[in-house]
Amino acid sequence: CGQCIQACPVGALTIHDDTEHVYEAMEAGKHVIAQVAPAVRITIAEALGENPGTVNKGRLVTAMKRVGFDKVFDTDFSADLTIMEEGHELLNRLQNGGTLPMVTSCCPAWIKFCETSFPEELPHLSTCKSPQQMFGALLKTWYPERSGVYPKDIYSVSIMPCTAKKFECVRPEMNSSGYQDVDKVITVQELANMICAAGINFADLPETEFDSPFGLGTGAGEIFGATGGVMEAALRTVYEVVTGEELEDVDFNAVRGFEGIKEASVDLKGIEVKVAIAHGLGNARKLMNAVKAGEADYHFIEVMACPGGCIGGGGNPIKNWKKMEKRLEGVYAEDKKLPIRKSHENPYIQKIYNDFLGEPLGEQSHKLLHTTYIDRSDIFKS
Ligand code: SF4
Repeated sequence: CGQCIQACPVGALTIHDDTEHVYEAMEAGKHVIAQVAPAVRITIAEALGENPGTVNKGRLVTAMKRVGFDKVFDTDFSADLTIMEEGHELLNRLQNGGTLPMVTSCCPAWIKFCETSFPEELPHLSTCKSPQQMFGALLKTWYPERSGVYPKDIYSVSIMPCTAKKFECVRPEMNSSGYQDVDKVITVQELANMICAAGINFADLPETEFDSPFGLGTGAGEIFGATGGVMEAALRTVYEVVTGEELEDVDFNAVRGFEGIKEASVDLKGIEVKVAIAHGLGNARKLMNAVKAGEADYHFIEVMACPGGCIGGGGNPIKNWKKMEKRLEGVYAEDKKLPIRKSHENPYIQKIYNDFLGEPLGEQSHKLLHTTYIDRSDIFKS
């Protein structure tokens, strides 16, 4: 409701229709690039009248090209990059006495909630930017060097399940490229409106692949859309980095599902890593109160503000739990289909470290892929 939208302290309920700005950029001859978040492929067909859980990335890319996007890239790629950075950050904290538990930072509504309600706990947050913002920084640094398109001519659009991402992209810290890294965020609902307005019959479209080089993501990136997905993706990589052994069963079932707070413990060849996952801000508050009281002996916590994670985000079609079950099935079915299911095995991730970034947590990565947070508790004092 309008009152909730105005009062929401985390910006998750702030709704703008930004499609007009995207059309203007297209008409102005900008090089308009889209990145498509993991949850979007799960809910776009539903937004256009198909059954919940129907997933077809190929039709989505075709529709977006017909709407007028010059390039359509996959945010799964930068989800993999997030895992590389976040996994190494966790290892660094474990080995060097850093602040624990480390808490994920992919969800801007959660970040703003932490900044307003738990400012003294900010050192627990991973310094990694979200996949959206990592991608944005690369699209105006690495991509121009390879494509010959000047950063000033690029208009970078994120297609997200999320309204809080609109706030995230205008945070002043999100200008690592020297420009605003992501120019505009539009939601699944806004994209569905653009597809309808173009007179496209989504059900009948042929399939097109995501554009290269940011079109290849792994199953690990795919599961970011569900609560527990970031944790599972991180564990797949951290296990192999720490043990040096291949993880044969990549399915961490203990971190899946819609239980409000989930806990698990993973044995990394003698090192026990305790993890917890919360979705919905009420559950996040409970976990953070335990952290604050020194009663939470976890090493790693994932928090997503929306019930169910991003597949339940406010930019998607209206949900109920029956639909959410179908969306969740869609997430894990996509993960299973992919030939590569661990972020560190993505060949383009390996290439971008070799050619441009150097190493996880290195100087260039710090400049482009990490961020800082702000105490916003003043909001409650005025
Ligand atoms: Fe956005 Fe919700 Fe996902 Fe957070 S959980 S990133 S608020 S859609």
